[in-house]
Amino acid sequence: MAIKIEKKIVSYNLVSEEDKAKAAEAKTQESSANVIQLGEPLSRPDKLVGNTYKIKTPVTEHALYITINDVVMNEGTPQEHRRPFEIFINSKNMEHFQWIVALTRVMSAVFRKGGDVTFLVEELKSVFEPSGGYFKKGGKFVPSLVAEIGEVVEQHLQEIGMLKKPGLDEHQQKLVEEKKAEYLEKHAKPGEEVNDEGYPKGAQLCKKCNTKASIIMDGCLTCLNCGESKCG
Ligand SMILES: [Zn+2]
Repeated sequence: MAIKIEKKIVSYNLVSEEDKAKAAEAKTQESSANVIQLGEPLSRPDKLVGNTYKIKTPVTEHALYITINDVVMNEGTPQEHRRPFEIFINSKNMEHFQWIVALTRVMSAVFRKGGDVTFLVEELKSVFEPSGGYFKKGGKFVPSLVAEIGEVVEQHLQEIGMLKKPGLDEHQQKLVEEKKAEYLEKHAKPGEEVNDEGYPKGAQLCKKCNTKASIIMDGCLTCLNCGESKCG
């Protein structure tokens, strides 16, 4: 390809062999980092291993049963791991049936395509119901039924090691326990310290973990569930 030079040439350098090698190496690294190779969709083995999760929500009359089946990759080798292959959702209640079938089929297709499937969790969890979502037992706010399905997928991916389990380390856990005890001692009357979920009565909804577990301590809003703290 010819390049037209429009400016005066004031200096020049020769490209050394070393530079060429470096550029080629950088290019290889870049391409291997950015490209997720998608192979042919996996064919379904006769036997899959899986888990079924039951969820009860205030927006469905009956419980939903979510089954996620995994395919075992590299079985019998040190690289053995499970990855999700298909998802089914069943319920006695057929009200949500059509979109649920569509959703599970699309998700199963994504699972089978290979590559990173963990993005599905955040996509589902960020769906908000126009009616405003609901609270689950345990005081956790769920923005929609779709988001709750996303949480189940997240739980499953954590169980098979594709996603890291969140949570506090030992030190943070201890600190949170201390804060809770200190707060209860100062603010609660005996016998009416905690709500059903084990957090102080009057605790506010934490914006990070969606649990009613945030209390004001030393001028800071501190969550006794996930440790999130905001001051001022
Ligand atoms: Zn929290």
